Amino acid sequence: MALCDQSLPYIRAISPYQPGKPITQLAREMGIPVDSIVKLASNENPLGMSPKARAAMETAATSLARYPDDFGLKQALANHTGLSVAHVVLGNGSNDVLDMIARVFLAPGRSAIFAQHAFAVYPIASLTAGAELIAVPARDYGHDLDAMLAAVRPDTRLIWIANPNNPTGTFLPYAQIKAFLAAVPPDVVVVLDEAYNDYLLPAERVEAAAWLETFPNLVITRTFSKIYGLAGLRIGYALASAEVADLMNRVRQPFNCNNLALAAATAALDDHEFVAQSYTLNRAGMAQIVAGLKRLGFTHIPSHGNFVTFKAGDAAMMNQKLLKQGVIVRPVAGYGLPEWLRVTIGTESENNRFLEALEKSL
Ligand SMILES: *Cc1c(COP(=O)(O)O)cnc(C)c1O
Repeated sequence: MALCDQSLPYIRAISPYQPGKPITQLAREMGIPVDSIVKLASNENPLGMSPKARAAMETAATSLARYPDDFGLKQALANHTGLSVAHVVLGNGSNDVLDMIARVFLAPGRSAIFAQHAFAVYPIASLTAGAELIAVPARDYGHDLDAMLAAVRPDTRLIWIANPNNPTGTFLPYAQIKAFLAAVPPDVVVVLDEAYNDYLLPAERVEAAAWLETFPNLVITRTFSKIYGLAGLRIGYALASAEVADLMNRVRQPFNCNNLALAAATAALDDHEFVAQSYTLNRAGMAQIVAGLKRLGFTHIPSHGNFVTFKAGDAAMMNQKLLKQGVIVRPVAGYGLPEWLRVTIGTESENNRFLEALEKSL
């Protein structure tokens, strides 16, 4: 038998993650100068990183000969969430903790439930562990919790929920999530991915960490890649019951988070001014882009994140036209949305560049 045919069939079934096109790649492909390219493709923070995080990282750069000590960040996150450090699991990006949860609870012969149009890492992590995937059709582009509950089978061990969801930006009020948790069998893990919760309106927010005591099957994941502006450092975390956190730490690679990321994240968590600035910029940019999309006649899915997905028709062609003008957005055909494109909210001038390029593409 050929070598690769000896690989695990469920690994061969995985569709590779398709990242946003890097700026330098577009520059190489189209001969466009790097500094004239606008990348609104990966939900990164247009303000960059917190200056406090940068300073902490520069200080940490002097001690890179030492293995990382992650206690400081875990302690800071415990304080931030009102939990003890035993509930915190750090990841090399939150994708890393999503993968750990899957490896702890999933295997061939078990199933995981996720929603149509939900984040691509859920199928990747589930299939990597050998589990069967149950994709539940979306309701209004978001999670249909009733249908997800009805989809639970005796072999179901894990349910993935992104709230807000990427790439659709849909949001389920926390009361609905809580009712769902109360209805799910207590031996099924519910992962609540809150990568975008810092972009929610204050009135929409709930500190779900307080629910861990009532629902020990709940695992909350968060990231420093979005509002904290540290996507390139790769740092995120999970909050779980102490027992589940202990299991996740057993499969975690020792020293999975590096010194620079730990230092930067600890400082970023404390930079409330930067987070507030990023939030305000996102609100204004969202209004600007939504108004522009409406003016140009595009339908969009109302979004609770730092991005918005709009119906482009022939999205592949529209994407090409935008790329030629140096504007990178994200095609979402791989999410079952072949006619749509997702654009990240940028600075005011980046948003204008996007809207101008979109208008010219019509
Ligand atoms: C961006 C994103 C993440 C975070 O990924 P990192 O690995 O932390 O960079 C997690 N979940 C969703 C839904 C996301 O969109």
